[in-house]
Amino acid sequence: MSMTILYEVHDNLYVNLTNKCPCACTFCLRQTRDHMEDSDVLWLSREPSADEVKEALLAKDLTPYKEVVFCGFGEPTERLDVLLETAAFIKERYGKPIRIDTNGLADLICKEPTAHRLKGLIDTVSISLNTPDKERYLELTRSRFGIGSFDAMLAYAAECKKYVPNVVMTTVDTTITKEEEEQCRAICERLGVTYRIRPWED
Ligand code: SF4
Repeated sequence: MSMTILYEVHDNLYVNLTNKCPCACTFCLRQTRDHMEDSDVLWLSREPSADEVKEALLAKDLTPYKEVVFCGFGEPTERLDVLLETAAFIKERYGKPIRIDTNGLADLICKEPTAHRLKGLIDTVSISLNTPDKERYLELTRSRFGIGSFDAMLAYAAECKKYVPNVVMTTVDTTITKEEEEQCRAICERLGVTYRIRPWED
């Protein structure tokens, strides 16, 4: 297995910290592919340390990238300490906007409130809402935290809103009905976050 810490998608630089995730989503891209766009294989032989991530960043010219995104082949908040240490390094050295793409279950993963730790470091949190329904959410994500996962994810979004300038919740185009999209939009409006329907990636 490889050690692809950084990879590019469109104009952004992505950081791959872990392959761990408390979910086993029925639609997870990890089931059908081992890379994204032109990246190398994203299955990690081991998880990189914060120093290894910084070294990988230093070896790259970050000028062309619009945003640095913590995403990768797993849930980035599984490694929240490394994520935040690296984010602080990126902010201080490069001043780039930073996004986390997440399932929104960080507080269940870390067993404590975590959103406040993003303050001043993370510009955008993008959370996969997937569906407006908690039972359907569990069917889709197969989260190991069970039926409480959906409400925990919504509570996390509300908390992030206090500390992060842009909080976005997403569903994937064509995977839910228009009526369900309207329900998702209403949830986002209630939470005061942005709703985004992402294009389907196969
Ligand atoms: S939360 Fe993301 S990484 Fe985890 S199983 Fe679902 S799609 Fe895959």
